[in-house]
Amino acid sequence: MSNTWFIKDKLFTKYLGSDEIQTIIRTLASRINHDMQDKVPVFIVVLNGAFIFASDLIKKITVDCEVAFVRLSSYKGTESTGEVKEIMGLDIPLKGRTVIVIEDIIDTGLTLDGFLQKLWLMEPADVKVAACLMKPDAFKMRFPVDYLCFRIPNDFVVGYGLDYDGFGRNSSDLYKIHTP
Ligand code: 5GP
Ligand code: MG
Repeated sequence: MSNTWFIKDKLFTKYLGSDEIQTIIRTLASRINHDMQDKVPVFIVVLNGAFIFASDLIKKITVDCEVAFVRLSSYKGTESTGEVKEIMGLDIPLKGRTVIVIEDIIDTGLTLDGFLQKLWLMEPADVKVAACLMKPDAFKMRFPVDYLCFRIPNDFVVGYGLDYDGFGRNSSDLYKIHTP
């Protein structure tokens, strides 16, 4: 893909290349394989945005594991409450299990915080968070992000699974909004 990308009305410029992303994911997968060597984790992929990151990461996991997918529905008006209204698609019992939640990007952290609270009600043994991207300057919560690929500034990004108004997910590279 080229260095610039027009999606709808916005211009984006390349930010992280595919090779750089894959290198970091390999390191992250090694850490997870090491930490989980005597466990059988359940990965919970938060759709839609995390589908490409989760695919790349999970292919490098060598311990026995299960994979489940959720879509979160949260109340989000002009102000994000992060209250997770419903969890759709979670069909594996989590009691006593080690869970690793896979997210595309953690911004304020409100959505994931609400989801983590609901997860703990299902009595897992442990819950870890794996994210491709995090915006530390926007983060408002306290939960630990155990496995993280990249910390980025507060710029809107697309590609590598993330969308702008439904478009832009189909790139191996990550782009950020062009601010002239
Ligand atoms: P949070 O609740 O952490 O503020 O929001 C997290 C969700 O907002 C992410 O899972 C993602 O769907 C969306 N989001 C946050 N920042 C970005 C961004 O820069 N680009 C895109 N495409 N989505 C984002
Ligand atoms: Mg997401």
